[in-house]
Amino acid sequence: MNEEVLPCSTHPDAPHSFMRDASHNAGRYVCECEGWLPSSIYEDNGYTSRSHYLECLSEDYNVPLDTVEALANLYGEVEMFDGLVTALQDIEGY
Ligand SMILES: [Zn+2]
Repeated sequence: MNEEVLPCSTHPDAPHSFMRDASHNAGRYVCECEGWLPSSIYEDNGYTSRSHYLECLSEDYNVPLDTVEALANLYGEVEMFDGLVTALQDIEGY
């Protein structure tokens, strides 16, 4: 059992509420802010929007946009600049 408790997002707009299904699946308390990123995260990283960011990833890693979007949905918002990028690096060039 994973006993790790993740710290809450410190963003002022972050939503905080108990995520019943996610908590049940994870076996620990899961707060709504865990799966949430401010929409400005893309602007902060130099992109106009989520779709713009995904298009850039598609071009940068030569991976079809469909695949990038599927992976983005799989990894979720919190992995957008982390796990998603790693996954694309892994499949780059195939
Ligand atoms: Zn929270």
